[in-house]
Amino acid sequence: TDDLVQPEATVEEIAFEGALRPGSLAEFVGQPKVRGQLEVLLRAAAMQDRSPDHILLAGPPGLGKTTLAMIIGAETGRAVRLSSGPAIQHAGDLAAVLSALTPGDVLFVDEIHRMARSAEEMLYLAMEDFRIDIMVGKGAGATSIPLELAPFTLVAATTRSGMLPSPLRDRFGFTAHLEFYDPVDLERVLRRSADLLGVPLPAEAIGELARRSRGTPRIANRLLRRVRDWLLVHEGSDGIEAVRAALLLYDVDEAGLDRLDRAVLHSIAHRFRGGPVGLSTLAASIGEDADTIESVVEPYLVREGMLARTPRGRVATPEGLAHAGVVVQPTLDD
Ligand code: ATP
Repeated sequence: TDDLVQPEATVEEIAFEGALRPGSLAEFVGQPKVRGQLEVLLRAAAMQDRSPDHILLAGPPGLGKTTLAMIIGAETGRAVRLSSGPAIQHAGDLAAVLSALTPGDVLFVDEIHRMARSAEEMLYLAMEDFRIDIMVGKGAGATSIPLELAPFTLVAATTRSGMLPSPLRDRFGFTAHLEFYDPVDLERVLRRSADLLGVPLPAEAIGELARRSRGTPRIANRLLRRVRDWLLVHEGSDGIEAVRAALLLYDVDEAGLDRLDRAVLHSIAHRFRGGPVGLSTLAASIGEDADTIESVVEPYLVREGMLARTPRGRVATPEGLAHAGVVVQPTLDD
């Protein structure tokens, strides 16, 4: 989708993210828990001069998983090789990636939950023993040729850690769970980015942007660029005015929800009378992909207390119903 608040990276961002991406753990804002955990893990590995354990980064898109993978490489002085689940469609794809590694490399695999099942066994062996077996030939004549790999650190990212088979999950030495950022941390991200981009914004404007960025640095940086555009086009307008106007123009509401968030809430509230409704029914009702709803929309609505997952399906909470414009009648016991 082309929505402004969708957490997936756009082409403009892939070009820009290099410039705004923090390069060290010290520069990485927020996520104090994950930062502390990584600090110990990386320092211990450095003291023993070995590759750090394999690391799984889990959480919704745009919270800094790729950034952390790069930082892990930088902090340990190792090269980072990039791959992704969708690029690994056969065991052979994985064999090609693994056999090209040099000792100590960090291999970053984004969206690892989308890797082909047929590559899983090979990855297990590689993670555990730094070797793989390559199958040659077919049928009775098939043989496997063992191949030693260079020791490496796998850093994998997923928006769906629940979808990973447990043998894979168990082979990571550590799983970092990234959380949505609170507004104070997002203000720090925005202040840093505003300085780097040379956008002069008063604290009040930064605060407003932070509050309406869906707890996500990527969205905060994106909205900031749209505010920068507004300031350029409307000479003499002030920061807070520009923030409000840009948010209105790009359809971000008072609570920081975007069109898709609102469509989901609206559908549950009105079409399904508050729920419960199953994920696939809900997805079909608004013509959106179930995976996007589950990994992008729901985590934020749940954290904002507007939606709840129950065994019977998704329900809108009283806050969610109110946001969707449903007037909740007090019940008799109130
Ligand atoms: P995806 O899952 O889509 O790859 P991601 O979680 O890997 O997303 P990143 O690409 O690492 O997200 O980060 C998105 C943007 O947010 C980057 O431009 C980065 O500069 C910024 N960013 C992320 N985390 C932080 C942070 N803690 N401090 C400052 N900027 C950050």
